[in-house]
Amino acid sequence: ERQTRIRNFSIVAHIDHGKSTIADRILEKTKTISKREMKAQVLDDMDLERERGITIKLNAVELEYEAKDGKTYIFHLIDTPGHVDFSYEVSRSLAACEGALLIVDAAQGVEAQTLANTYLAIDNDLEIVPVINKIDLPSAEPEKVKEEIEEMIGIDADDAVLTSAKTGIGIDELIERIVSDVPAPEGDIDKPLKALIFDSVYDSYRGVVLNVRVFEGIVKPGDRIEIMNNNKKFEVTEVGVMSPKAVPRDYLMAGDVGYITASIKSVKDTQVGDTVTLADNPTDEALAGYRHSQPMVYAGMYPVDNGKYEDLREALEKLQLNDAALEFEPESSQALGFGFRCGFLGLLHMDVIQERLEREFDLDLIITSPSVDYHVTTTADEEIIVDNPAELPDTSEVKEIREPYVRAEIMVPEDYVGPVMELCQRKRGDFVTMDYLDKYRVNVIYKLPLLEIIFDFFDDLKSNTKGYASLDYQVEDYEASDLVKMDILLNGEPVDALSFIVHRDFAYQRGRDIVSRLKEVIPRQMFEIPIQAAIGNKIVARATVKAYRKDVTAKLYGGDRTRRDKLLNKQKAGKKRMKEVGKVSIPQEAFMSVLNLN
Ligand code: GDP
Ligand code: MG
Repeated sequence: ERQTRIRNFSIVAHIDHGKSTIADRILEKTKTISKREMKAQVLDDMDLERERGITIKLNAVELEYEAKDGKTYIFHLIDTPGHVDFSYEVSRSLAACEGALLIVDAAQGVEAQTLANTYLAIDNDLEIVPVINKIDLPSAEPEKVKEEIEEMIGIDADDAVLTSAKTGIGIDELIERIVSDVPAPEGDIDKPLKALIFDSVYDSYRGVVLNVRVFEGIVKPGDRIEIMNNNKKFEVTEVGVMSPKAVPRDYLMAGDVGYITASIKSVKDTQVGDTVTLADNPTDEALAGYRHSQPMVYAGMYPVDNGKYEDLREALEKLQLNDAALEFEPESSQALGFGFRCGFLGLLHMDVIQERLEREFDLDLIITSPSVDYHVTTTADEEIIVDNPAELPDTSEVKEIREPYVRAEIMVPEDYVGPVMELCQRKRGDFVTMDYLDKYRVNVIYKLPLLEIIFDFFDDLKSNTKGYASLDYQVEDYEASDLVKMDILLNGEPVDALSFIVHRDFAYQRGRDIVSRLKEVIPRQMFEIPIQAAIGNKIVARATVKAYRKDVTAKLYGGDRTRRDKLLNKQKAGKKRMKEVGKVSIPQEAFMSVLNLN
């Protein structure tokens, strides 16, 4: 009977269309959270998420709702991230649900991730409830958005719920629609336990906390569970639900979404996507796991203090438990010592990981310039994969370098098609096709090198289209390109961690840009520091950091105290993340120089 009153659902949307705010309103209405405890975006509990106003980790909460039919329903709401970097997390949470609220901004309409996330929901056989949010805005056009949903997604939007998460309009109706439209879970309680781990968190007191969706059977404290993919066995110490804080329960049963703790000490013992069953009465077949996510961007992470190498390893292991998409393996650099090569979903993901390592684990890090992975054929016909430019063999030993290409879908009002095509062309793109989505909007499809997309493509796209364009992309294949490795020499010595790979056509420009940027960020010292950019033995650009003169600032900014203080503060802050390479101190910004070029 209880099962018929459970509703498991997710919220999917393009970023900023109001997912987190809708979740807040639902939490408020179901009195899961008192007004006093209510703060904006309750589910975004990572500090970083609040500050940036983005949802990074999925979160599951249990809510109780007394419906108009007089019955009390149990909602399990799973919030998901909207940024393109995190679509992997979206597909994970959807596998735990029967339904999805599809939120579309009434003023913006359907955008690239609206489509991408809806397809993920459809792939998971979810019932989709269309919701048009922000109808309070003067620019809201709900009727037009309904048409878009029907034309572009192909689902009936006639009875889409119209809401304003800001003023609260439509939220009551929305909640009733969750009851009526999202199917109750099915699954036999009498069968052996079959539960999907869709997320896990490391907690220093309780060990690994598994977030699970139970599909069959029942689990309670004292049970011996088995992780099916590695046959490890544990005794359950606690089961419960998040509401939104952890609340212990006597059991979790088929249809429930909740957590299990079982004194799991090592973060390596469980993997998101694994199936949990009972050791003494196992289910016969594991659930289909998740497709393993593929990192798109790689960078080296090094502790500023070499003594912190083991701390960094532990921190990465803990983060990886929460974030299956993070990959890392040890690497060393002549310049930076011992560190890790890490794989990320994109630059935002990289940024988030770096900040979490620094805040949650109190580490100071140097990150090398990001790279994609290259498939290289050597002259000896060996195939190697290179995700660290420093490891690219000498040009004389390279026969061919293939780089990852993406299929990029850019959704844009027709007035901006010209600027979008011009941008894609400039980024070495090949035009594929262009479709009218409706009367005013066009989906422009280009094949583009991932290398060009990860750096500043998204910012350029936004500025070229006044923010109207949205982007979705997927790696399609690897193609041969005329790529070269650019080495950077400081004081005549190559610094491996500063090497990068670039297309030959852009090489000279890039070399000049990076040299002048390095000249700005490398602090003066007692001697001159020549900076050179080289392809093989050929120097393509050079500059010199002049020797230090006493009290530079006094001369520069005579009377202007504040400017001078600002400069000094900046230098102080910079000092913390400085790496001594040979006789030269290199600040963190130097390693990121490649990113700031335009
Ligand atoms: P998410 O990225 O989809 O989670 O979006 P958020 O919930 O963080 O909302 C993005 C922005 O839109 C925030 O500034 C919200 O305050 C605002 N917002 C959300 N819902 C509404 C709404 O119904 N009306 C208006 N005017 N603003 C809204
Ligand atoms: Mg959000």
